[in-house]
Amino acid sequence: MRIDRKRLETSIEELGRIGETPRGGLTRLALTDEDRRGRDRMVEWMRAAGLRVSVDRMGNIFGERAGTAALPPVMMGSHVDSVPTGGKYDGQLGVLCALEAIRTLNDHDTRTRHPVTLVIFTNEEGARFQPAMIASGVMAGKIALEDAYNARDRDGIRLVDELERIGYLGPEPCAPRPFRAYLELHIEQGPNLEAEGLSVGVVEGIVAISWSRLTIHGVQDHAGPTPMRIRHDALVAAAEVVTGVRGIARQLGGDLVTTVGSLTVAPNIVNAIPGRVALSIDMRDPTDAVLDRARPLLDAVVREACEREGVRYELEHYWRVPYTPFDPDVVATVERAARSTGAGYRRILSGAGHDAQYMAAIGPVGMIFVPSRDGRSHCEEEFTPIDDIEHGANTLLRTALDLAELRA
Ligand SMILES: [Zn+2]
Repeated sequence: MRIDRKRLETSIEELGRIGETPRGGLTRLALTDEDRRGRDRMVEWMRAAGLRVSVDRMGNIFGERAGTAALPPVMMGSHVDSVPTGGKYDGQLGVLCALEAIRTLNDHDTRTRHPVTLVIFTNEEGARFQPAMIASGVMAGKIALEDAYNARDRDGIRLVDELERIGYLGPEPCAPRPFRAYLELHIEQGPNLEAEGLSVGVVEGIVAISWSRLTIHGVQDHAGPTPMRIRHDALVAAAEVVTGVRGIARQLGGDLVTTVGSLTVAPNIVNAIPGRVALSIDMRDPTDAVLDRARPLLDAVVREACEREGVRYELEHYWRVPYTPFDPDVVATVERAARSTGAGYRRILSGAGHDAQYMAAIGPVGMIFVPSRDGRSHCEEEFTPIDDIEHGANTLLRTALDLAELRA
């Protein structure tokens, strides 16, 4: 049994036109009118494929294809929201490959023992409402429904009001539900598969992540009359922290990655010595032990940089996710499926968070990666060749078939 490559390609093009940017990317922020149109199109296709569609209180959409027994479903899916000027593959590829797998089951009149359910998660990106993966987080019981409802976008608009406005505030409870497995196909968003000429990544888990925020308090003063020797410049200390954070990755080596991605300078004008700087630190590694070693190094980098400049600071380690291993049996099933499609594949870790991370807290999870050209994503240049997508979709189909059990 193989998926219909042409039909999948057409669906990718068609859904990609909703929120398309002039340069061929995608802007479809969560719970906007574009998101609603994307959801509506998906629901239309799901109904046409004979799925029983339901929506939960977080706007997550489920489309169930019945099984022959009263068993928990094999779920597969991803998200259809995007970042601003993002690409057409992040998220929607997983949803469309899942739909294509179900369409293929229909083509062959295949009956499975377990139901097969397509799922579309709300606001995965966190581009409009924070935190990211908010709806799978509520489903896993890691985020309170009330907190999610009260998340506000930049204009102060509440998530729950937007859910209602676009018609996706559903009646089903958003709570842990039993499933045989949750499968998510996603673009790699890194350079490894492409560099090694492979089509499929069998994802073993998601790296451990640590987020910290640092505020440095210097002394704001005039850039002219203030001699260098009496300055306490918050930005000079911050600059040392930025290079120091990179130094931690160099020092510990391996797969550790460290990033200062956000910097806010006050007053941020040409003729004042910066009085205050706030910055973010993101550190990721496949093993929790390495992050445990990185954290005191970060403390030292900050302390030393601030002492040298004679400035005060507050450093807060406010978010930590441990390494999330996926279910070994599901991972092995994905690997067998990849092998059977004839695709080049290897085992891989995800450096980015996905809904699969929260789903792993409530049931067996596996992911399938397909390559990202030049390793790029969250940009209009995001691209995956159709040959690789076809291998990925067939791997997803065969994994789902295996786990949902063909009726004897
Ligand atoms: Zn994504």
